[in-house]
Amino acid sequence: MVPDAAYGAALQYFTGDKRHNVMLREFALSKGYTLSEYGLFRRARRGKTATGKTGLIVCKTEDEIYKRLGMDTPPPEIRIGEDEIDAARDHRLPNLIPYGSVRGDLQVQTSWTDGSASIEEMAKAAKKRGLAYLAVTDHTRALAFINGLDDKGVIRQGKAIDALNTKLTGFRVLKGTECDIHADGTLDLKDETLVRLDWVGISVHSAFRQSRAAQTARVVAAMSNPNVDCLFHPTAGLIGKREPIDLDMDAVIAAAKKYRVALEIDAYPERSDLSAIHARAAVRAGVMLVVDSDAHAPEHFDFLPLGEAIARRGWATKKDVLNTKSAKDLMAWLEKKRPRGSVFT
Ligand SMILES: [Zn+2]
Repeated sequence: MVPDAAYGAALQYFTGDKRHNVMLREFALSKGYTLSEYGLFRRARRGKTATGKTGLIVCKTEDEIYKRLGMDTPPPEIRIGEDEIDAARDHRLPNLIPYGSVRGDLQVQTSWTDGSASIEEMAKAAKKRGLAYLAVTDHTRALAFINGLDDKGVIRQGKAIDALNTKLTGFRVLKGTECDIHADGTLDLKDETLVRLDWVGISVHSAFRQSRAAQTARVVAAMSNPNVDCLFHPTAGLIGKREPIDLDMDAVIAAAKKYRVALEIDAYPERSDLSAIHARAAVRAGVMLVVDSDAHAPEHFDFLPLGEAIARRGWATKKDVLNTKSAKDLMAWLEKKRPRGSVFT
């Protein structure tokens, strides 16, 4: 639909984002060019040049435009009109986490609670999708309407996972939980249960309307429990259904750093939580991210690339995302916080 010579400019322009494009056009002007959907032009030569040709600079690709402007090409995910043009000009764009980097899913529900499939079925589906491990993180007793597990149930499930692991080859199932955070910041499972798990995620599923101060204090208190590894879907919002809770995310990110708790990017589409903006703040603070599907059915593992996209929009590199590690390296990282039961070879 457009001439080859202008294809890069058309693609750049029509795929946006608008704020980025406005800033890029201003930058082009400062360099003596004009940039539009019709191409990149030398500014001084209005209309026809002395040679009878227009001032169009051939830019068949986006890369050619950015290169001509003296910068690296910002990946599309981070073109939002903030500081990406400066970073591209100074050659300090991050090496964003490549799609397909996540090696294990650390939030998975099974038919023990509100998932549709057994632990074994979920493990097989994850393996088929190229993953090497998953953590079973069924809900806890506060969610009684979906048979949330109590302490005894979690221990019983752990034994079932140990037995399953002896059967599986090339795949590991971690004993985990999605432990509810009570309204007062205490946790729904006892410490003596949590300490026996490989992976402890915590999350808010109730008392959504506390004040910002109370809600933040509640979540930070829960994060300070030394058995906690990750805060799942931190703002607890459901797109189109429920507003996020009123949290001071700076305080939550500072607590994540202080208590060595990872923050989750929950890729389940109606969650998409953390947001890209909060993910970037976490990366800046040196907080570890986790990208999970929050799978409730085998096909939900397909959501993982959506979470990787949010991580990319948050300027995350591979090393910022905990579950890009192998199961062995993940457990070694977790062991630094507290010893775990499972041994990986
Ligand atoms: Zn949840």
